[in-house]
Amino acid sequence: MKAHDYMEKEEHYGAHNYHPLPVVLERGEGVFMWDVDGKRYYDFLSAYSAVNQGHCHPKIVNALTEQAKTLTLTSRAFFNNVLGEYEEYVTRYFGYDKVLPMNTGAEGDETALKLCRKWAYVKKGIPENQAQIIVCEGNFHGRTITVISMSTDPDSYGGFGPFTPGFIKIPYNDINALAKALESPNVAGFLVEPIQGEAGVYVPDDGYLKKAYDLCKAKNVLFIADEVQTGIARTGKMLACDHEGVRPDILILGKALSGGVYPVSAVLANDDIMLCIKPGEHGSTFGGNPIAAKVGIAALQVIKEEKLAENSARLGELFRSELKKIKSEMIELVRGKGLLNAVVIRPKNGKTAWDVCLALRDNGLLAKPTHEHIIRFAPPLVINEAQIRESVSIIAKTIQQFA
Ligand code: PLP
Repeated sequence: MKAHDYMEKEEHYGAHNYHPLPVVLERGEGVFMWDVDGKRYYDFLSAYSAVNQGHCHPKIVNALTEQAKTLTLTSRAFFNNVLGEYEEYVTRYFGYDKVLPMNTGAEGDETALKLCRKWAYVKKGIPENQAQIIVCEGNFHGRTITVISMSTDPDSYGGFGPFTPGFIKIPYNDINALAKALESPNVAGFLVEPIQGEAGVYVPDDGYLKKAYDLCKAKNVLFIADEVQTGIARTGKMLACDHEGVRPDILILGKALSGGVYPVSAVLANDDIMLCIKPGEHGSTFGGNPIAAKVGIAALQVIKEEKLAENSARLGELFRSELKKIKSEMIELVRGKGLLNAVVIRPKNGKTAWDVCLALRDNGLLAKPTHEHIIRFAPPLVINEAQIRESVSIIAKTIQQFA
């Protein structure tokens, strides 16, 4: 089969809920992926920041295959001999009493919302069914009905109502709006992405997260961080909240928690919050399965062993400073933290971010537009300096093609 045959098959038999860049990949290793014709590309998406540890990291793949040969799934109807090991590892790693294991990011968010509501009724004394959770405009927390009920993006929520009530939407990075919303006595939590990834890598003002956290504390409101995209070293610290010394009351992780080899997500909290959920009140057949447990440990070990947060911080600085040197009217803005970056593209002669991504592909680098005019650049964190420099020269050459 040729590339177009693979694409045609997906088009014919698969739902049309994605608009992929036309490239058919068959192999990945470290920062590279290869298409079915053997052409090599730098991966500058990392599966939306899931492949922070690099494609097919041998240690993580080994953890997966070894456990897959031994025991894959027991469900949580029984104990197994690896889940506790993972739970101990991940809670100590991030400094929480307990973890609730799930599979996808959206499930992690759903879990956090349920946990927050339960806490509101059991601990805070909010009247039954009255709890409200503050969320931010421009958020992206996944695709389930409750999660899109928080969304302000018509592409996400349009045509999918009726929606789940109980959310107050305020502008992102607006501390006064948060203070005002917190006046309502029935507010239980504030759910926030420390950097809005899908919205286009919006980095809030320095101090925003800390101020938001302090305001929440003053009102006995849970500060809930969705670090599904920003976590696990992506922004140059283990968590993006670490940049401001903020420790969320509820932490949501996903994506790179498995290095992209398996769906693994997690919600972390201390006992006073986590133990509000009792047996039978929440769960998932696959959540916390033995493969996920072994993969999660290996993926987190790799982050520390290979100093990926440090690499992300150092090479992120270099990447942004080199990108800013590219002289082109098409580059309106470069922003980001660590290796989570975006370039805002000013369309030229009818050419948009999509056309730039097609040309980048032709030149050997894969990236994807988010919201039409923004291109996110988020390579695996195992990238080295020479590779960053080569990637920047590919981006520069590509942009200049549009001059
Ligand atoms: N939360 C954030 C911040 C995300 O960026 C995403 C996915 O991009 C999700 C949640 C949803 O994760 P998943 O696609 O694994 O459900």
